[in-house]
Amino acid sequence: MTITVEKTALGSEVADLIARYQVKPAVRAFVSQTHNNFIDGEFVPSVSRATLETVEPSTGGRLSSIAASQAEDIDQAVQAARGALAGDWGDQTPADRAKWLWRLADLVERDAHLLAEIETLDNGKAFAPCLDVDILGSVDVLRYMSGQSRNIEGATRTVSVPGAHFAMTLKEPIGVVGAIVPWNWPFSMAIWKIAAPLAAGCAVVLKPAQETSLSILYFARLAREAGLPPGALNIVTGDGPSLGDHMTTHPGIDKISFTGSTATGRRVGARAGESLTPATLELGGKSPMLVFEDADIEAVAATTRWSVFFNTGQVCSAGTRLYVDKTRLADMLTCLEDVVSKIHLAPGLDPSCDMGPVISVHAAERIEDEISQATDAGAELICRGNAMGRSAPFVAPAVLLCRDNQMSIVQQEVFGPVLTVIPFEGEADAISMANDNLYGLAASVWTRDVSRAMRVSGELHAGTVWQNAHDLIDPSLPFGGVKASGFGRDLGPEQIEHYLTTKTLWIAVED
Ligand code: NAD
Repeated sequence: MTITVEKTALGSEVADLIARYQVKPAVRAFVSQTHNNFIDGEFVPSVSRATLETVEPSTGGRLSSIAASQAEDIDQAVQAARGALAGDWGDQTPADRAKWLWRLADLVERDAHLLAEIETLDNGKAFAPCLDVDILGSVDVLRYMSGQSRNIEGATRTVSVPGAHFAMTLKEPIGVVGAIVPWNWPFSMAIWKIAAPLAAGCAVVLKPAQETSLSILYFARLAREAGLPPGALNIVTGDGPSLGDHMTTHPGIDKISFTGSTATGRRVGARAGESLTPATLELGGKSPMLVFEDADIEAVAATTRWSVFFNTGQVCSAGTRLYVDKTRLADMLTCLEDVVSKIHLAPGLDPSCDMGPVISVHAAERIEDEISQATDAGAELICRGNAMGRSAPFVAPAVLLCRDNQMSIVQQEVFGPVLTVIPFEGEADAISMANDNLYGLAASVWTRDVSRAMRVSGELHAGTVWQNAHDLIDPSLPFGGVKASGFGRDLGPEQIEHYLTTKTLWIAVED
């Protein structure tokens, strides 16, 4: 079948950007079209035919148009997913599913450069790490989950009731998964939410963030090219609250898998609870890095490029609370000033870019406002990076010294390139301040003392603890939080469990 596309006019600023950085013609053609939903293996306009414009963050210029879907579009996608489970997709063996996921990984790898350009234009993030982490990292996730599709196993049990019986547990796909993802890792979060359910034999209805739907719509093309059975994967774009509210109470959805803010997660959890739909919630964070007096201070400072300022600080597990032994505070601040002064702000497509813009002018203004409020409340601004004459949505990285752990800038997720440094006195003080926070997504411990590293790791309330590192991710290891960072896990064999139900089977044996 031919895909009918309508051209939309690129904003002139975006056209200039595309020309200046020699973006591939295929990418230019892809972004400058009106994008439809992907339902039952076809690209279809929303029932209302309404569309939404999206912007390229560094210029604010018009980038693309996506379907502004409504409840009826979700209904169609759910129907397609149910049909797939009852039909061709439901008949696939674990080996078949492994093959589909591997084939999808190969196609993403083939088009990785193109996907990274689409993602950079849509989200603003720096191109090189986007290619490495977002796109090629997702290839790795697809391949890992390809292997997992053949590792699904139940158990046999010895029972004690009178008579002779065999008893066992069978693992079955939970059904249709409603997946909702945020804008900060548009492609990789979507792949995390797609690969595991497909490996488990489920069908997926995915709603990307309305700001950043393009890369996963490109993936839908690859799914068609691969020949993935229609309805196994469906993508519906549009406004978050209205589509999300419909999904979380939809009788045809058997499982909700959500990644996003804690505020939205609370609503998603409450609504899913009302309809008794199991939900996995991967939410916000405000992760501590604990730096003891024997730590390699230069290594800690160098790591903040990755653990705090990476993706312009728009990272759920960013180590934005840096607790430092007070005897090393001065050294730490000097090293941080050096690191921050070298961070280069530029559009994500610029080869010199370390940090791109934040997602919108509105987000940049909010972040600047939070920095001002913090300094008004007594935080000391240690350094700001060089903004290179750029204004919002560019935000120069900031380091703030905060002597009060209760300050809002220390406690709340800023979701921008802002690091707070808090001095501590002794191990107990460090652990107590690190745990005195709403969130519990991740943490890191920096010390050369192995016993202390193990002792402190055991005390921290966090889903992941790194020792002498921060923000390492691998598809084989589960990722997720405790407290207001949510529950459930993505990645690892643990994620597959969320998409399976357990059926207990008894077999009475005649004497
Ligand atoms: P958000 O909560 O505003 O939106 C997330 C998704 O939910 C979007 O697709 C949005 O359209 C949708 N949505 C909005 N209202 C909804 C509703 N009523 N019902 C259902 N869905 C709805 O979050 P965001 O600003 O897009 O993303 C940033 C947040 O995501 C940060 O808090 C960050 O820490 C978090 N995050 C967490 C992880 C993790 O693994 N824990 C990973 C990435 C991002």
